[in-house]
Amino acid sequence: MSTIQQAQQILKHKFGYDSFRLEQQNAIQHILQRKDCLVLMPTGGGKSICYQIPALLFEGLTIVVSPLISLMKDQVDALRANGIEAAYLNSSLSSTDQSQIMRLAQSGKLKLLYVAPERLLQQGDGFLNFLRDAKVALFAIDEAHCISSWGHDFRPEYMHLARLKHLFPGVPVVALTATADKLVRKDILEKLELHQPETFISSFNRANIRYYVEAKKNFYEKLLEYLAKKKDESGIIYCLSRAGTEALAADLRSDGFNAMAYHAGLDKGLREKTQEKFIRDEVKIIVATIAFGMGIDKPNVRFVVHADLPKNIEGYYQETGRAGRDGLQSEAVLYFSSGDVVKMKKFVMIDNNPEQTRILIRKLDQMAKFAQLTTCRRKYLLNYFDEQSPDQCGSCDVCLSKYDLIDATIIAQKALSAVYRLNQGFGLNYTIDFLRGSKSEKIREEHKLIKTYGVGADISKEEWQVYFRDLVARGYLQQTEGEYPTLKLTDKSDDVLKGRVKVELVKTKTLEESNATKASEAELVYEKELYADLKELRRTIADSSNVPAYIILGDSSLIEIAAYLPQSLADMRKISGFGDVKLQRFGKEFLDVVLDYTRKKNLATRINLKQAKREKKAKAPIKADTGRFNNTYQVTLDMHRQGTSINEIAEQRKMSPQTIANHLAQFVESGDLRVEDFVSRSKIENLKNLIDKYGYMSLKTIKDNAGDDITYNDIRFVVSSILADSN
Ligand code: ADP
Ligand code: ZN
Repeated sequence: MSTIQQAQQILKHKFGYDSFRLEQQNAIQHILQRKDCLVLMPTGGGKSICYQIPALLFEGLTIVVSPLISLMKDQVDALRANGIEAAYLNSSLSSTDQSQIMRLAQSGKLKLLYVAPERLLQQGDGFLNFLRDAKVALFAIDEAHCISSWGHDFRPEYMHLARLKHLFPGVPVVALTATADKLVRKDILEKLELHQPETFISSFNRANIRYYVEAKKNFYEKLLEYLAKKKDESGIIYCLSRAGTEALAADLRSDGFNAMAYHAGLDKGLREKTQEKFIRDEVKIIVATIAFGMGIDKPNVRFVVHADLPKNIEGYYQETGRAGRDGLQSEAVLYFSSGDVVKMKKFVMIDNNPEQTRILIRKLDQMAKFAQLTTCRRKYLLNYFDEQSPDQCGSCDVCLSKYDLIDATIIAQKALSAVYRLNQGFGLNYTIDFLRGSKSEKIREEHKLIKTYGVGADISKEEWQVYFRDLVARGYLQQTEGEYPTLKLTDKSDDVLKGRVKVELVKTKTLEESNATKASEAELVYEKELYADLKELRRTIADSSNVPAYIILGDSSLIEIAAYLPQSLADMRKISGFGDVKLQRFGKEFLDVVLDYTRKKNLATRINLKQAKREKKAKAPIKADTGRFNNTYQVTLDMHRQGTSINEIAEQRKMSPQTIANHLAQFVESGDLRVEDFVSRSKIENLKNLIDKYGYMSLKTIKDNAGDDITYNDIRFVVSSILADSN
């Protein structure tokens, strides 16, 4: 079996997934050759698999460096739920527990060990000696951007990781991150001193997140209306201020929503409890400052709302990226008012640092521009991160909206002449107030005498804002950058003022029922009632094993079950997310719920729909490689069919008996031969039990625990038959 086929088998058997995503396969293939690399993948893309699968294929221990204690536990729980031996070491454990884990690692029983960076290279080198004894196969550096002072999350303790390559020159290092621009990328490669590294970059497009921007007017009513549609779904609402989060959470609670506040000013114990409740779905909505989110990996966050304007696109993308890690349809909603831009400027200014302030204001302006786009928002985001994108994504509010254009020549003339009369020296709000004839003292007395004053009183402030935005977007006006942007005429303005061109502007925007929703829901029609029952069962199992529900199975797996209605354990193994161990542990329980439901409702299974999809995807490439059509395998098969024993074939073909057994095992795996032709029933029984217990990654472990009469060939054949059953 080629290594990548082995990787594919692990993906299916250990993790329950049918195919690799994004750059997973390329990265894994590279790591398996014991070469260094950097993996860039968006949040939820599946970075962990990139080192977890090599960890299982390598002999020895994989060390995963991770900065966040809460994530370590989560990752380890998830691995254990799949029957993978993993543990973590950090300050939350007692020293007895820590020594026990170190002993376990030394004994070779662990495949993955998660540690904090400061732990890895701590003073005294005690831990380094331990690592030498533990035979490290691979180092995985998670959140690798933390090593770069160019990044937004620099952690000095990461700097020490540079020593790894000196201390363990032969051990491959894989660095992983979800955020790194070119500078940070270069910095990671250099600081970690990676050896001839390859960089694997996946698209940063989060196709399952839909982006919306709403006017902030009547914010609270709009939010209530929005949340009412999101009943029972998990979400995060980001606010600028700590006080703001508490006030909004309290309001939402009094309106019957299950919401809690979270910010850095709250007591640590309370923060941890809130986070834990959110992870366990006991709290549905977290109203938080940006302090919230770094340490959580919750896959089923269905919406992220920004109640205030984020300071820059980087922050916005990272925060909205916490939605939809599980790949299911999710939403990001930003409530925007142009007043927020003015307000936020105060927050991004740094005293006595005009240079830095200029950069930060520019970033804020780019954020504000995003909120005011009349073109695809996803394209803007991807271009911001140097990625190409089609003009229309079909799943942001701009792409989903219909715009009514009107002849707005007169409106445009009024707007432009106001700018002209005000000597191109005033901002948007002032100009609109001037046009509307505001009596406010803010309007200078001499301006109240100008003819244009008040000529736009028939149009509301909000409508004027839309028109001005559109005039800027179409190049009839421009807006300067900086703390106090002003409106200026352009070389296109004159034609409008002189009546030489007709101007069309957007009058109203109507959001169409999202095609994206329709498409994705049409793809999987599932039984809602059954889905609820399955969730209930998952809750019970999760509670009794004291882990978050998503560690047991993700929402997308439950939706598949509720859609395809499996009727047997064999059907169940086709459900994405059901690896061998999970199938064995709770396959039956979930199956019983389905059987109950389908009997009651008199429904037949739809599992063949799932199968058809899988076969198209997974089968073809494997076949080409198994050697099925390879001559030398075929010769062995033919001789076997004529009754020649393995040893006789080996002798005649001048090959080792082991090679011949390997040939035949391939045919067992492809289903052409039966394991019973090679191994006695009692041995098969015995071996299946051992494989259940120890997995099949190390044939040696099985051999060591089996009786003397069992040979490596016996083990190989039985493993092949197990793989065949799952194909
Ligand atoms: P990241 O660390 O990149 O944010 P994770 O490694 O936590 O992402 O993976 C996100 C989710 O996607 C997890 O639930 C993981 O099990 C799942 N996943 C990873 N790879 C695959 C795959 N090839 N097919 C289906 N699901 C996958
Ligand atoms: Zn779009």
